[in-house]
Amino acid sequence: MDLLRDSLKDTASEQSLSDRLLHWFSDVKRDLPWRKTGDPYAIWVSEVMLQQTQVKTVIPYYERFLHSFPSVEQLAKASLDDVLTIWSGLGYYSRARRMWEGANYILQQLKGELPRNYDALLRIPGIGDYTAGAIASIAFGQNVVAIDGNVKRVVSRLLAWSEPVETARSYRHLRDTLMTWQSALQPGDFNQALMELGALVCTPTKPACQHCPLADVCKGYLQGDFLRYPVKKPKAQRQVVTRLTFVLRKGDQVYIQKRSSRGLLADLWEFPGVESSQGYIHSLNDDLPLIAGEESFALFQQAVPQGVFFDSRVKDQFQRGLFWQGPVWYTFSHRRWKIIWAVVDLSEHWDLPDLFYSLNQPDSTTAFKLEESEGEYELAASTEKNQLDKERWVSMKDLRAIPLPVAFSAIIEQLYLLKHEHIGSKMT
Ligand code: SF4
Repeated sequence: MDLLRDSLKDTASEQSLSDRLLHWFSDVKRDLPWRKTGDPYAIWVSEVMLQQTQVKTVIPYYERFLHSFPSVEQLAKASLDDVLTIWSGLGYYSRARRMWEGANYILQQLKGELPRNYDALLRIPGIGDYTAGAIASIAFGQNVVAIDGNVKRVVSRLLAWSEPVETARSYRHLRDTLMTWQSALQPGDFNQALMELGALVCTPTKPACQHCPLADVCKGYLQGDFLRYPVKKPKAQRQVVTRLTFVLRKGDQVYIQKRSSRGLLADLWEFPGVESSQGYIHSLNDDLPLIAGEESFALFQQAVPQGVFFDSRVKDQFQRGLFWQGPVWYTFSHRRWKIIWAVVDLSEHWDLPDLFYSLNQPDSTTAFKLEESEGEYELAASTEKNQLDKERWVSMKDLRAIPLPVAFSAIIEQLYLLKHEHIGSKMT
């Protein structure tokens, strides 16, 4: 910090760090859709989408989202399912869910208006330090900082900050330092300029210091060890969890159910499955599991709580052995799913194919479920009015419009590829 201040002394009389950064930004900034608006809602949407996602990926999602939900009010009044559907493919679905909750809060508590200052923005569900700082500075010109991963990297290199950047102490130090550099006149541009510097020049592994407007005051660069920063805490090993996934198929339709509103991938639709990090799933070639028929049938019943689609004939299919496929790997922040999947084909055992599906359309007022009684199936009105909010049969064509976790994308692609083939059970 002292070195940085000393370095700045030599140049401060000519141009402050803030002025240099703003000058550089006005020359090189990218022409991005959210930079053409002063609408705080649109800026909020862009900032949430940009978290952990690349700009080029975000642009079409941003445009589609604003087209579907052009205002806080329209977002709040939409169903969560519709919001997740528009978000589908962008990943980290909890961001969309929290934004929808935030929009409802704004509509109910704040008459649909986003507040104009940082402290009030922070009270909105789903809006944290970074997003509040970005909205307050960019949309309302408030003199506050917005510290995301890019900014942490840039500032920790400028300061050669030797402590892990994830700690509260580091955050306070970076924030306080940034506040001394902040532009009083253009706080929003200053924050965006730092982010842009991190995105275009001060990149994680190959910073282009020769093109950096701050190279002559960058302590990390002057010391020749800029790649040492940002210092990070050692990462905890991600737990590998095997997820057995069952794709119930009936002709052109597949069965999906909704995950719980809490925890991992909350409120998203899924192919039923069970997780295990235990040893009961024995591996063949370290990839595909070898599971006894009885055991896999028990897991299947555990995976589909409604349990209305099985009888001894389906059980026989399990006993003959399922054709397990995979693994498909999917990484969360703290765990990795090793997805092993199999199709359970109900086509030949289905007596009421079209009736069930046509009754269970989203606009149907009554949900029906298939119940088994002494080996016979019959349709019964569901006792739960919103049964269709928990489980559905959908056609392969409609599957793409349903918010399923990206983790299942590879399975869906395989299903499309194999659509006209028989991929049901076979001996293993
Ligand atoms: S000089 Fe290099 S390390 Fe320092 S801020 Fe600029 S790009 Fe980053």
